Amino acid sequence: MSAKAGEKAQKTGDFYCASCDEKVHAQQGDKIPECPNGHKTFETRRNEPGNKS
Ligand SMILES: [Zn+2]
Repeated sequence: MSAKAGEKAQKTGDFYCASCDEKVHAQQGDKIPECPNGHKTFETRRNEPGNKS
């Protein structure tokens, strides 16, 4: 599932830039900010503890 900057976040969580993997955080109902590098398309992921290796 993807999301775009300026859209309302459908859930609270982290959004990862589809272009550069930068992470932004948005709360449910808030507008999703742009990536710090100027990209506007994000992939949504759940807040999961731990890292994949
Ligand atoms: Zn980016």
